[in-house]
Amino acid sequence: MSDLESSVGEGTKALFGMALDELRTLAVSWGESAYRGVQIHGALYRQLAGSVEEMTVLPLALRERIAAEGWSVARPEMVQTATSVDGTERYLMRMGDGETVETVWMPEGDGGERGDGSEAAAEEMGEVDGETAGASTALRSAQDDSFVGGRKRWQDIGVLEQKGYRRATICISSQVGCAVNCQFCLTAKLGIRRNLTAGEIAGQVAAVLARHGVVVGRDRINLVFMGMGEPFLNYDEFMKSVHLLVKGMAIPESRMTVSTSGIEPAIRRFAMETIRPKLALSLNASNDVVRERIMPITRKWNIEALLEAVGTIPLTKREYVTFEYVLLGKVNDQPEHAREVLALLRGMRAKVNLIVWNPGPGIAYEQPLPEDVAVFQKMLIDGGMPAYIRRPRGRDIYAACGQLKRTVDEPLVSIR
Ligand code: SF4
Repeated sequence: MSDLESSVGEGTKALFGMALDELRTLAVSWGESAYRGVQIHGALYRQLAGSVEEMTVLPLALRERIAAEGWSVARPEMVQTATSVDGTERYLMRMGDGETVETVWMPEGDGGERGDGSEAAAEEMGEVDGETAGASTALRSAQDDSFVGGRKRWQDIGVLEQKGYRRATICISSQVGCAVNCQFCLTAKLGIRRNLTAGEIAGQVAAVLARHGVVVGRDRINLVFMGMGEPFLNYDEFMKSVHLLVKGMAIPESRMTVSTSGIEPAIRRFAMETIRPKLALSLNASNDVVRERIMPITRKWNIEALLEAVGTIPLTKREYVTFEYVLLGKVNDQPEHAREVLALLRGMRAKVNLIVWNPGPGIAYEQPLPEDVAVFQKMLIDGGMPAYIRRPRGRDIYAACGQLKRTVDEPLVSIR
């Protein structure tokens, strides 16, 4: 196998996942001009071609030759879909070697961006700009068939708006399973099987965008690396996928959030990246004793070390670091814990996302009481720390946070 051939699946020559310079080199190795590589790049990442045959920008003879030589797009295949009553969709994505991960589509997002200072946050909080308001007007006009010569034509209105959404968030997996072993998480029960390649990570996004007919730039898409796996334990492929998503698919990194359980050396490395999504640290406890119990990885890097590493990230003017905090009944959701969180984060440009724990089979935690959640949030806000409650999405299909588990021993609730 040459350096240009992917290692995804025995003998697979995967085009999806290759960067522009790699595709140019590949085209030249075929005896074609480097420009053919540029065309393939556009076909893969902008037109979202799902097969070599669909790359109609290339001459038919070249497409036939590429396919005959064993090259294929080879992005993850969506093999099952479960749809929640709230519109969330969960997909089982199969890789070239048969391994599967899950990806989640959340129309209207999950509230995770609230208060982080980004454009995505402004949308999440309903601070829509004139453009969006105008588009909604256009949509209404188009719907009653009386819309002629307005600011937007019907075909210019994104599929999200047509469906009544302002935006959507895609939750992506970075590994098959996970090695981190957070005690409240279903994915942890799988253990780790392997890392995903950059193409397999970005390919989940391409498959979901293609399914919904989403056009990046016209439709507003946010990405969260919060599915199966710990992205920072697959750092190089994760970062390569970010570059593919930014440079290939034109999704700005300001619309991406990566969540880490706290891999201290990787946080420090991340701080030095020039293209850098927003960071969310899964804090989940207010002291090391509780955190070690629910996140054993704390024994390796304690809260103090993690906060120091987070402090090295050069924040943009409006940016806040997000701390995710899964509330487990009576474990970490009491007033003394809220006081400790305030003390830990004092002086940081931070906000806290509170996540009401989602129950899962075989996990012996309790959901927090609604009144405890309310008191916890109020104490943080009163203490000067922005705190938001993330909406649980797709709970009925096990798509909510911490519930992604490969569908091997647990059938999907509804399959289309
Ligand atoms: S919460 Fe995230 S890091 Fe922890 S075990 Fe689950 S997938 Fe891994």
